[in-house]
Amino acid sequence: MQLITGTTKLLGVIGDPVEHSLSPVMHNRAIASLGVDYVYLPLPIKPEDLAVAIAGFKAIGLVGFNITIPHKQAIMPLLSEVSDIAQGVGAVNTVYRTNSGWWGTNTDVAGFISPLQALNRDWSQTKVVVLGYGGAARAVVVGCTQLGCTKIHVIGRNPQKLSQFQQSWDSTNLPVSINIHLWQQLPELISQADLLVNTTPVGMYPDIDRSPVEEATIQRLSAKAIAYDLIYTPSTTKFLQQAQQQGAVTLNGLEMLVQQGAAALKIWLGQTPPVDIMRQSLQEQLQG
Ligand code: NAP
Repeated sequence: MQLITGTTKLLGVIGDPVEHSLSPVMHNRAIASLGVDYVYLPLPIKPEDLAVAIAGFKAIGLVGFNITIPHKQAIMPLLSEVSDIAQGVGAVNTVYRTNSGWWGTNTDVAGFISPLQALNRDWSQTKVVVLGYGGAARAVVVGCTQLGCTKIHVIGRNPQKLSQFQQSWDSTNLPVSINIHLWQQLPELISQADLLVNTTPVGMYPDIDRSPVEEATIQRLSAKAIAYDLIYTPSTTKFLQQAQQQGAVTLNGLEMLVQQGAAALKIWLGQTPPVDIMRQSLQEQLQG
């Protein structure tokens, strides 16, 4: 355990609740491995206290912090600058203190694309099918655009929310066409999918026997496709098991979690983060 002294610099994660966050252990393990004089704290903040908390963080000289549910959007007007990526996603998950105030960005995008970049492919002709239209789906859309994908199909169950999702991209000028569909259209779309991403929580612990995709539908998935589930607990969801049976390449959400944290740490410390130690810490916490 590293020593916290009068010179130790402060980092943390704000949320409500924040007790179950895996980030404090992951970041403090990374900090210890780098041997730097920082500590990363869980900071439980109620929505009604957000503005006063951010002002207080300035007063106590917090260097930076992560943001989790429910503050990812609410924090945006409290920052002096928001990166283009975070503007595109419409949410901030990482904040850094600068001379001119708080600067916010979104490292979920970098986290999401990291395991895809490792596959070293040309993504320009990739047909992406995204299940769900919540906060994570927004990071997926921006991430796929960064990879160079130009066609994204988004599946949802509420027609109104689907069209709001589609319209929300109009002002962003992303070089991508976003098509929206109800779940009934998935059987037709899935056979053409090169990258199928589950951003719904269906299949997450404890509902591990559920999948967002019906058995008869997943059978239409090509063996050449990539199935990516943002869920990291369990490590192999029912959805990923189904996709594996089709011969598809599968990815779970663990690497996204590791890499979003590593990207945040790099912003705060300006040093290359110990990604292997961060990954190991998460695996231990998830297994423990
Ligand atoms: P969110 O904003 O609440 O969005 C959830 C989406 O799933 C919504 O579109 C919702 O549609 C849909 N949905 C929920 N239950 C459904 C069901 N039974 N059938 C069909 N659609 C359903 O949540 P989020 O922040 O995007 O997170 C989504 C998932 O991604 C979670 O499992 C989370 O753990 C994971 N995630 C992982 C990482 C990572 O680092 N690996 C990062 C972020 C999120 P309605 O609005 O119609 O309910």
